[in-house]
Amino acid sequence: MFLDGTSNNKQQTINTKQKMSTFSNYNFSNKKALIRVDFNVPLNDQFDITDDTRMTATIPTIKKILLDGGSVILMSHLGRPKDGPTDKYSLKHLVAHLKNLLGEVEVDFANDCIGEVAIQKSAALKPGQVLLLENLRFYKEEEKGDAAFAEKLSKLGDVYVNDAFGTAHRAHASTAVIAQFFPAENKMFGLLMEAEVLNAEKVMHDAQKPFTAIIGGAKVSDKILIIENLLNRATDIIIGGGMAYTFWKAQGKIIGNSLCEDDRMPLALEILEKAKSLGVNIHLPMDSTIADKFAADAQTTNCESYGIPSGWMGLDIGQKAVANFREVILKSKTILWNGPMGVFEMEKFQNGTKSIALAVAEATKNGAFSLVGGGDSVAAVNMFHLSDQVSYVSTGGGAMLEYFEGKKLPGIAAIKKG
Ligand code: AMP
Repeated sequence: MFLDGTSNNKQQTINTKQKMSTFSNYNFSNKKALIRVDFNVPLNDQFDITDDTRMTATIPTIKKILLDGGSVILMSHLGRPKDGPTDKYSLKHLVAHLKNLLGEVEVDFANDCIGEVAIQKSAALKPGQVLLLENLRFYKEEEKGDAAFAEKLSKLGDVYVNDAFGTAHRAHASTAVIAQFFPAENKMFGLLMEAEVLNAEKVMHDAQKPFTAIIGGAKVSDKILIIENLLNRATDIIIGGGMAYTFWKAQGKIIGNSLCEDDRMPLALEILEKAKSLGVNIHLPMDSTIADKFAADAQTTNCESYGIPSGWMGLDIGQKAVANFREVILKSKTILWNGPMGVFEMEKFQNGTKSIALAVAEATKNGAFSLVGGGDSVAAVNMFHLSDQVSYVSTGGGAMLEYFEGKKLPGIAAIKKG
C-alpha cells in the first residue's frame, strides 16, 4: 500500500512520480498560493522558538513560489488551544522569526484565519509578499474537518499547497478536506511533503535488503503496529529502549524494576513467534546500563538485560548490545530508525542511542539508505549533530509513525485523488 492507500504496483509508482513533480513544474507567477504548513514549533515562556526545524523545512517551498512571482498565504496550527483565541497559541509570535528566515520579504499577519481581515489581507497581497494567518485551531471546525470552514479557507488562494507532513495523518479542514475545493491542477504537495513521501515510500516499497528497522522508545504499546507492519518487510528488527524489557519478561526473564507492560507480554511473544516463522531476525539488547533510580544522578552499573536485580532498572542498552546492533546495522542496505535506545535525555544513559546513531551514520557513509523518523530518535540525531550524516530525517513524528504502521494518511490521499 502507498501512503494514499493504493496498491503497490508499477503503474501506481509511475503515477506517484508524475504527481510528485507538479510543484516544481508549476508556475506560480501572479498566483496566490495557500500553503498548509506545520509551524507547530515549541515556544518557551518568553515566546522564543526553541526549535525552528519545522519552519526552516518549508522555506524552500515558500521561496520557490515567491521567486516565480507568486504570493504566499501561510496557514498552520500551533499547540492545542481549547477555547478559541488564546494569546499563548497565537501565530503572531512566529512573525519576526519568519521574517528572519525569509530575508528581504514582506511578511504580514492576519489575526483571524477566516473572515474580513483574512479576505482583505489576502486579496491585497502582491507578488513576492507573504501573509501568515492566525492559528487554525482557534476554530473547532479545523479539527472537526468541517467542510464549510475549509471552503472559507480555500477562497483565500488560487492554488492549494500542502507542505505540512506533520499533520498529514489528520483529516482536518486545512490538511485534507480543503483539497476538494481546488481542481486537480491547482492542488499539490510542497517540496517538504514531496521529500517526506518519496523517502517514506522508498523505505516501505523499494527497500534494498538487508533492511533493518531499529525500534526503540518507552512503550511496546506505542510501537506494536509499526513492528507488526515491518515484520512483512524488514529482514532484521532491532528492539531497544524501555520496550525491550517487556520482550524479555514475556520470555520468563527477570528485569528488576525496568519499564514493563505486563498486559502486552502475550503480544510480545506473538511477535517473536511470527518473526521466527517469517524468517525475520529480532535483536534484543543482551545487556543494559542499569540504575538504582530514574534520575540523572542515579548509581549505575552494567548487567545482562535478562537478569536485572530487584531495585534496579534498565535505562540504556549496554556495550554488548551496542556491538551486536552495530554489526547488524553495518550489514544493512536500508535502515529505518524510530525511537531511542535509552533515556538519552540524561547523559548517563546516552551512550546506547549515540552509538546507534553513529553506526547508522557509518552505514550511510558506506552506501546504505537511512531514514530516521517518528519521534525522539529525530531529537537524538539532532542532539548528536548527526542529522546530516543520515540519508533523511523526517519532520513528521506522528505522521511518519502512522505511515510506517501501514495506515492511509488523509493529507496525502486528498491530494493524490486528483
Ligand atoms: P517514544 O516517544 O516512545 O519514542 O519514547 C521516547 C522516550 O522513551 C524517551 O523520552 C526516553 O527517555 C524513553 N526511554 C527510552 N528507553 C527507556 C528505558 N529503558 N526506560 C524508560 N524510558 C525509556
